[in-house]
Order: sequence, then structure tokens, then C-alpha cells
Amino acid sequence: MKVPLLDLKLQYQTIKEEVMKVAEEIFESQYFILGPRVEALEKEIAEYCSSKHAVGVSSGTDALLISLMAADIGPEDKVITSTYTFFATAGSIARTGATPVFADIDPETYNISSKSISRVMDGMTGKERKKIKAIIPVHLYGQCCDMDSILEIAEKYNLIVIEDAAQAIGAEYKGRRAGSMGDFGCFSFFPSKNLGAFGDGGIVTTNSDEFFDKLRLLRVHGSHLKYYHNKVGGNFRLDALQAAIVSIKLNYLDGWTEARQANADKYRELFIDAGLDDIVNLPTEKENRHIYNQFVISLKEKRDDLRMFLTDAGIGTEIYYPVPMHLQDCFSNLNYRKGDFPVGEYAALHTLALPVYPELSYEQQTYLVERIKEFYS
Ligand SMILES: *Cc1c(COP(=O)(O)O)cnc(C)c1O
Repeated sequence: MKVPLLDLKLQYQTIKEEVMKVAEEIFESQYFILGPRVEALEKEIAEYCSSKHAVGVSSGTDALLISLMAADIGPEDKVITSTYTFFATAGSIARTGATPVFADIDPETYNISSKSISRVMDGMTGKERKKIKAIIPVHLYGQCCDMDSILEIAEKYNLIVIEDAAQAIGAEYKGRRAGSMGDFGCFSFFPSKNLGAFGDGGIVTTNSDEFFDKLRLLRVHGSHLKYYHNKVGGNFRLDALQAAIVSIKLNYLDGWTEARQANADKYRELFIDAGLDDIVNLPTEKENRHIYNQFVISLKEKRDDLRMFLTDAGIGTEIYYPVPMHLQDCFSNLNYRKGDFPVGEYAALHTLALPVYPELSYEQQTYLVERIKEFYS
């Protein structure tokens, strides 16, 4: 039996007619960049994410970069984030010229640990601490960070909060939507995210009128009036075609999320029935609405051998992520060492993401859990 990590072809069949119709309209109009379809999507996403505004951009990475630029983060500044995230989070900080400052994660949720943030802040001199201007909590795998403590720290030190919600569209923390709690919420429409485009795309949410204006300015090279530039921005524009496709898919998102949650529940039952719960650590759901962009287990032993065994059995898995940010070559100048963030380092060696996409069948899940049982017995 084949169990791919993700199969987007099944989903495409269900929306194909709507997509083809809108694609033809756009091709006939020859109107490709920004415009009414992007504006419509911005309204829909702002509403979906309980935010006042949204600004469509070219990718999730650019959502992070343009937010940092709108917050005037630059070479003299430092920005705190998780060591255990997709590279774009830390990379965007570095691209502004600022210095990323890493913190460890919570062993249950894999999200940034507020205790670790406090430890990092307390270990700094007052002068160093003053350079910290922002914090990027990453809502990893589709579950929100512990935002009460993070917002408290941000308030105490006067930090801008940029939520990296690339994996968490529609996730909730105590009834509040991802992307609505900080100053900026950054989302990605990369095809493998829960709400994926047919190419690259992203969006930034904000409740601030001032940041909204700034984001729109920076998206088009910092110019309100063509060829007159108030700021140095970039080309961070979203395509009409991508916006139109994302708009169509947004109508199905809650249904797909429910299917992912149901798959997560089925895994829990299957793993417990198989008696694997002492080798396999299942993901912990806090009180949040977890949208399961990924279903990530942690294995006490032989993660890499298991992964090879599953590949041979036709089962796709992935490691998100094998190297924490503080141990990346490109950040060696920051002088972090192995052992600095033991929880993130442990996660990098022990976690494994399993298929959880909405169309995954019960037979496929059963087959997968049976193979894991076979491997460990
Ligand atoms: C996917 C992702 C991004 C980047 O999004 P792109 O659209 O691929 O640029 C940023 N942060 C996290 C946590 C992600 O998962």
C-alpha cells in the first residue's frame, strides 16, 4: 500500500471546475498582479483570522521579512525566536541585518518556551537586552504558542510581536485566532500548508492601521505615487491567480481541518491499541484549536531506522526539522554550541512527521501503525 506524506491531487479533483473557471477569467482579463481578487482575499483572510487588516504578499518568507521591515528592524537590533522552526523565521531576521537570538522549546508542544525566553533575557546585560526589539513566536505544526506568557514578556520589554503562523491558519489560543494576537500575523500559501496556493504566496494580518499602511507601501517598493519612493521596500506582491485559488480553497478549509483533526484522533486510538504508547510519544494538544498541518510523533529510539523501514514499505514521512537554528552553519558566527538548547536538539533527533492530510484513509493509517508495530517488535 502507498501512503504518501501528502497527496494534493485528490483535493484538486474536488475543486478543479471552480479553479479552471476562475483561471480562464483571469487569463482572458490578462490582469495578473494585485487588484480586486487580491483585495477580496485580503478581506476574507482578515475576517477568517479575526484581524482588522490583511495584506497579500509573495510568500510566507516575505510575510516575515516585510513585517520586520514595517517594524523598522535593522542592523543594530536583535530579535528573539525559536531554535526549532523552518529556516525562513531565522533567515528573515538575518536578512534585515538584525541578529537572531534563539530560545529553546517546550518538550510537549515543540513551541518556543517562555521559560527559556526569560532565561535568555535574564542572561543578558541591560545594554544587550535593550537591543531586543521584537519576538517571533512560531505556531509550529498547527498549534499556537503559549501566547499569554509571550505577550506578557513582550509587554515587559516593549517588544513587537510577529506571529509566524505559516503552519497555523485557523488555529486558536483560548478562543483567539492565530495571527490576531501579536502586531503582525504571517501566513504562507505554500502548497503543502493547510491553505495552499498553486505556487508561492502569503499574507500578513495586522490590527494596526499604521502597520497596514506601511505594509502596503513596502509591498510596492515603498511608493504610494508611482516612481516616488518614501521608503525602500521590495516587490512583495501577490498574484491575482494565486489569490483567486486561495479564495476558492478557503471555503473548504474548515472541512479539511476537521478531517485532519479526525485523522489525528484515529492515530491516537491506533497507537494506543497497538500498545506502542511507551515508544511513541504522541503530539500533545493543549486547550488550543490545533489544525494539524503536521502530525508529529517522537520516538524514544531508532527514529532514522524506522524512517527507512517505512520508506521501503511505501510510507512517506519527514523530519521537521533535523537541525535546530542555533546549530546551522550560516549562524556559526553567533557562537552557539551543541547543548545550548537541549530540548530543540532532542526534538531534531527524535521527531517524525506522519501523513495527516484530509483525504488520508483509515486503511492507510492502519497500515502505517501496523508497520511501526512490526518494526519495534
Ligand atoms: C512554510 C513556512 C514559512 C515560509 O513560508 P514560504 O511560503 O514557504 O516562504 C515560514 N515559517 C514557517 C514556520 C513555515 O512552516
